Amino acid sequence: MGNLKLVQLAENGKRTKIKVGSVMIGEGLVIVGGPCGVESEKQTLKTAEAVKTGGGMMFRGGAFKPRTSPYDFQGLGLEGLKLLARARENTGLPIVTEVIDPRDVSWVCEFADILQIGARNMQNFSLLREVGKTGKPVLLKRGMYSTLKEWLNCAEYILAEGNPNVILCERGIRTFETYTRNTLDLSMVPAVKELTHLPIFIDPSHGTGKLSLIEKMSLAAVAAGADGLLLEVHCNPSEAKSDADQQLTPDQFAALVKKITKLSRFMDEKLFKTSIITGGDQI
Ligand code: PEP
Ligand code: MN
Repeated sequence: MGNLKLVQLAENGKRTKIKVGSVMIGEGLVIVGGPCGVESEKQTLKTAEAVKTGGGMMFRGGAFKPRTSPYDFQGLGLEGLKLLARARENTGLPIVTEVIDPRDVSWVCEFADILQIGARNMQNFSLLREVGKTGKPVLLKRGMYSTLKEWLNCAEYILAEGNPNVILCERGIRTFETYTRNTLDLSMVPAVKELTHLPIFIDPSHGTGKLSLIEKMSLAAVAAGADGLLLEVHCNPSEAKSDADQQLTPDQFAALVKKITKLSRFMDEKLFKTSIITGGDQI
């Protein structure tokens, strides 16, 4: 494991659990739903209600959008964070939102329950250090060109600053495949679990970029042992200002949560908790 001192799984097998509001991450499946971006009051509050009604346990939405083009919708910033706070007030759901600039961390903390570090910022070391100085839980997405070892080193940066509350999130990597937006690497779920004590979420929305693939990849993620799912949901996907092709409607989300929950209960049976084959390569 080289220099991965703090993230590696100890001999006693103890795993990190993170309490966010009334949700315990690391104890049963956590479903996070919400739009790619916070776009308006109506869109945010309506979608938050739908996520709550559909069985979501947390609400996600970006107030800062790291976009490929500087001319695309960049998010509402502070106004967006205020809308997320209203969504939390209305629904009671904890808020997951991205921070993209180290200078914003302290004030974004006032609105977020979980700080998201996006794929494009995974190795932004000053940002990692800054979120590491807060006690806020951090959802650290895997960079689209990053190896497992690089990803875990980024988690190590956060823990090394004194923040133990890190959740890893696989959101797909770039490969030569073009049918899907990214290649969702589900092998990271058991790999992360055999190397580290940190919880891991799967993001099938960015991982596939295709509505038609999200249900099956969500189920596969649960079967692989993921601690949570991050799903994009929009009250009116075709009007979304970003990632319109991959956002679930409220009805699709609710139906998916039902299916996932059934599988998750089944997976909770002891038989599936332990692996019959163990002993992977150390990195
Ligand atoms: C997002 O969650 O909306 C997002 C921008 O994700 P990623 O950083 O994985 O592209
Ligand atoms: Mn998105």
